[in-house]
Amino acid sequence: MAIALVATAISFIIGTLLPGNPPALQATDNPATAAVQAQNLKQNLTVDPLAKEVRDSQTGFNLDRAIEELLTVLESQEKRLTFVPPEHFQGKVIFEGKVNDSDKVIALTVDDGPWPETTEQMLDIFKQNDVKATFFWIGKSLESSPEIARRVVAEGHAIGNHTWHHWYDSMDDATVANEVDRTAKLIYETTGVKTTFFRPPGGVLNNGLAKYAKEQNYSVVMWSVTSADTDPRAQPEAFVNNVLKGAKPGAIVLMHDGGGDRSRTIKALPDMIAGLKKEGYRFVTIPELMEIQQNEA
Ligand SMILES: [Zn+2]
Repeated sequence: MAIALVATAISFIIGTLLPGNPPALQATDNPATAAVQAQNLKQNLTVDPLAKEVRDSQTGFNLDRAIEELLTVLESQEKRLTFVPPEHFQGKVIFEGKVNDSDKVIALTVDDGPWPETTEQMLDIFKQNDVKATFFWIGKSLESSPEIARRVVAEGHAIGNHTWHHWYDSMDDATVANEVDRTAKLIYETTGVKTTFFRPPGGVLNNGLAKYAKEQNYSVVMWSVTSADTDPRAQPEAFVNNVLKGAKPGAIVLMHDGGGDRSRTIKALPDMIAGLKKEGYRFVTIPELMEIQQNEA
């Protein structure tokens, strides 16, 4: 929001004080759009130094400084919105983090959303417990719930790509590329997020998707513990037990916020978090987990 305001202010100044120079910035909440606009503005702006001095003294508004400040904000925002694995993990398949036994970190991962109701309920629980997780989105789901997606990003969770259609079968090269790239494009357009974390639907590693993702320097993120929350007959208590039983330092936990009725997952989640906290675990995102592994190596 702050960016949109600054952008509007700069746009106004240019529009009023430099007639003939059309406003280069338009109010936008999309950080990616704002970044492009600011860069274009900086490159294209040619101002007569004398006119600039008069303008600055008249308005008390230093355009150069305002643009610099805007760019600084945008840079830090871009950093926050860019999820790239450390080099060591690029083009690799990862099942868990290899960390010191004394380092009780665990990564919750959430697949198949964003999804009406359940994703937001999950976000509420994460917020109450100060937990950051990693969400692997399906393009099709994202298309239906862009607002929920923006909330996930705003609340500081990490994002990964989970294909457009969630297909399991082998695909030809063009379909594979489309499944990954179309999703990446919509993630960026919707949230400003660039991510090269990928999870293949169903964990299928031999249908062409994982191969393509690796070639594109994605990290292919599997899991070491499943809550088994897609089992239609299991009770929420079983999800909790599955996770507590499989937990170990560096574990990657699989659960779902979308793709069907996930009310049982929502029911299980507070107990799951409480149980892990009781055992001394702290919650990290997948990018954080990789960074910890790298720093300990
Ligand atoms: Zn999935």
